[in-house]
Amino acid sequence: LHRPLAAGLILLAAAAAWYQDHLGAVIDKLMIQNVMNTTVTESRQLITVPYLRHMFLTGVIPAVLLFWPRITYARVRGLLWRFPLTIAASFLLTFGFLFINLKANVSIIREHHELLGSYQPGATIGALVRYAKMELRAGNVEVKPLGQDAAKGPALLATKKPVLLVLFAGETARAQNFGLNGYSRNTTPELSQLDVFNFKDATSCGTSTAVSLPCMFSPFDRSDYSHERFMGSENLLDVLAHAGVDPVWVDNNTGDQNIARRTGARMVDVTLNPAACAGGECTDAALLTELSAQIGSITEDTVLVLHMIGSHGPAYYLRYPEGFAPFIPDCRTAEFDYCSQQEIVNAYDNSIAFTDHIIASAIKMLDQQDRVSPALFFLSDHGESLGEAGLYLHAAPMFMAPEVQTQVPFLMWLPQKFQETMHVNAACLTDRTSQPVS
Ligand SMILES: [Zn+2]
Repeated sequence: LHRPLAAGLILLAAAAAWYQDHLGAVIDKLMIQNVMNTTVTESRQLITVPYLRHMFLTGVIPAVLLFWPRITYARVRGLLWRFPLTIAASFLLTFGFLFINLKANVSIIREHHELLGSYQPGATIGALVRYAKMELRAGNVEVKPLGQDAAKGPALLATKKPVLLVLFAGETARAQNFGLNGYSRNTTPELSQLDVFNFKDATSCGTSTAVSLPCMFSPFDRSDYSHERFMGSENLLDVLAHAGVDPVWVDNNTGDQNIARRTGARMVDVTLNPAACAGGECTDAALLTELSAQIGSITEDTVLVLHMIGSHGPAYYLRYPEGFAPFIPDCRTAEFDYCSQQEIVNAYDNSIAFTDHIIASAIKMLDQQDRVSPALFFLSDHGESLGEAGLYLHAAPMFMAPEVQTQVPFLMWLPQKFQETMHVNAACLTDRTSQPVS
């Protein structure tokens, strides 16, 4: 039993150590949740040649070596004293070292959660157990109704055409690299030509899709949010449905994270735009085709959530089509070790510029049609680390999350006609754009 168990622990520690050392990832229960919610294509991008080499050298070889020595087993009588003695000696040594400088050790453990979070494979096993507990609890909760008395207000009832509110949600766009928010590079050339309300100081609820996205639609704010509470309550989409507004969710990412479980969600239709989906994954251009189809078909007031792939890493270069790269040279692999810092930033900035192009195209499409009364929101779920302080990607625990993972772009496009019919106070809204929002 010892050898297969020890071999398993070595493999687990080797895998966890890779993501910890190379991406600065802390493996906690939310990281496990991200792993469980991910798609095959996404996880494939994290399994690279250097990763396999690392796994072979630090995982497979040591695990195999465990089976090499031939063990002479002691007789049962010998085991009776050897076994307890070994365990007692191990504990004595461990705690002996701890007690040599107890004061310093205790304060370090208290102050630096990241140390315990980086101890392998213990941290990963602990995270797996906590994740299983969280899912068990969340799976058993009863869903409390929310806003069942919701109804359309007089302004909405008075509109002649169906109202279409488009919400581009996500993905991994950080405020610091968003041209409209004052980035030194103009990554939003198209949106800056348009009349939008841009909230410059918006923070996300979490640092990963599995937390931030449900939190956006839940009735809880950041301090009250938990997976269990989210699963135990209806959310904004349910309230819209209660009010007689049609909530439609089209996904070009890892799914709706249970947000639309009662109202319905579907993945982006690959057949609508084969060119955008040529690489096995779709760029967000596929969402424009979906939007066009919705504009042509809706008859009810609708909130259309388009869950983007946006700037999802590490394969930023797959987020924008061949030929669309304002910032070069760009990192054209999912393995950051092969790219310079500048190439990684260039690829990320290209993905932001492509998001700019998608959102601006959607606005123009909505502006040029006459079938529906449109409005549009864009809100990123969380930011991204691009190597600052040795961190890459996202999903850092909130207590240590850098601002680049929590400051997000958030903008609204409300055409003049919409402002008039819905009685939007543009001056008030403009004033709010410089205040902190979450
Ligand atoms: Zn995300």
